[in-house]
Amino acid sequence: MARIVQKFGGTSVRDIERIKSVARRVKREVDAGHEVAVVVSAMAGTTNQLVDWVGETSRLHDAREYDVVVASGEQVTAGLLALALQDLGVNARSWLGWQIPIKTDGVHGKARIDSIKTAEIERRFKEGQVAVVAGFQGFGPDNRITTLGRGGSDTSAVALAAALGAERCDIFTDVDGVYTTDPRIVAKARKLDKITYEEMLEMASQGAKVLQTRSVELAMNHGVRVQVLSSFSDAPGTLVVDEDEIVEKQVVSGIAYSRDEAKITLLRVADRPGVAATIFGPLADNAINVDMIVQNVSEDGRTTDLTFTLAKSDLARAVKVLEEHRAELGFAALKPDPNVVKISVIGVGMRSHAGVAKKMFRTLADKGINIQVISTSEIKVSVLIAEEYTELALRALHTAYDLDAA
Ligand code: ADP
Ligand code: ASP
Ligand code: MG
Repeated sequence: MARIVQKFGGTSVRDIERIKSVARRVKREVDAGHEVAVVVSAMAGTTNQLVDWVGETSRLHDAREYDVVVASGEQVTAGLLALALQDLGVNARSWLGWQIPIKTDGVHGKARIDSIKTAEIERRFKEGQVAVVAGFQGFGPDNRITTLGRGGSDTSAVALAAALGAERCDIFTDVDGVYTTDPRIVAKARKLDKITYEEMLEMASQGAKVLQTRSVELAMNHGVRVQVLSSFSDAPGTLVVDEDEIVEKQVVSGIAYSRDEAKITLLRVADRPGVAATIFGPLADNAINVDMIVQNVSEDGRTTDLTFTLAKSDLARAVKVLEEHRAELGFAALKPDPNVVKISVIGVGMRSHAGVAKKMFRTLADKGINIQVISTSEIKVSVLIAEEYTELALRALHTAYDLDAA
């Protein structure tokens, strides 16, 4: 007998037929004698609809009410799945975040889980009851509903698995595992049998939304065995594992992309100490995160151009903040550009192999793609390019690093 957590994403519960099919899959584990907690997302498209409704009602909305609205999709699927399980003769009940309770910090819209009390769920495991948990939600120090950021049900599942000391956390989605890159864009993408926590963390944080970044962080820190697999088939999925479980380390294991990027260039900024602090200070004060930064060498010793990237959703606000500080920053012009994409090649083998960046730059150059900004870390090289070249760049790089499926 094992204790397992199963998480089903939006497409896996997109209608009643799918929910019934999920119930049959859960029942298989129950029949095998396992203790099962199931975490569900809202039906596919529901959360987007709820987010839109909030935006249409109020442009500068209260984040606490945003959470009340957008958390509701998971309440529906948790109740429906509990009903579907009961219809199959399985003892099951639904749990909302506050009922468990799942306590979070107070950052509405992007809360982090502080604690999960599993005593009651565990007591009911002993009675053979399945816990069906609404993903994506908890409640904050203000006693109000919080949500964990888009894609947050993955994090609910991994956090619950950690709290329950579960043997496995199976993340069921609409693809049968983690691929070398998004299989919806690159047809030759290859499914990975295993990927290291570290690589998965980079893949997720660089845009591969198959797992929410925070869920990978939690899995890594708590040693949760995560498997990504399809709810539509019985094919084996991808295991996220420690590095020492992978015998043959690839130099590049995957390529991620993020269209959620925007670029700002400030022209002719004064070239003197303290200028970067003056520019990035007001942005930080407004909770605007900056990612890649390049500052050109100034030709005349007096002014320089500064380019940086940030989340596309923060672009309008950042422009406003910078314009408000224009007098003290003293730039000649500000050029915002939302039409960019960040492409990242990732692999733990990069630590011991040179030439990864060179191959990336050569491959893009051969396709006539201009690189606007570059950044690197120990196991990753990222470039910013024009958004229109996303597919071309991904496919060319996938071939260049020998990732194409046979
Ligand atoms: P769910 O609703 O089940 O949480 P998501 O849409 O959040 O599903 O995540 C699954 C999607 O992630 C896939 O449909 C795929 O398009 C996308 N994806 C991006 N990069 C990858 C990758 N490297 N491997 C697998 N899927 C990826
Ligand atoms: N329903 C939420 C979202 O769409 C959470 C999730 O699916 O993981 O972001
Ligand atoms: Mg998801």
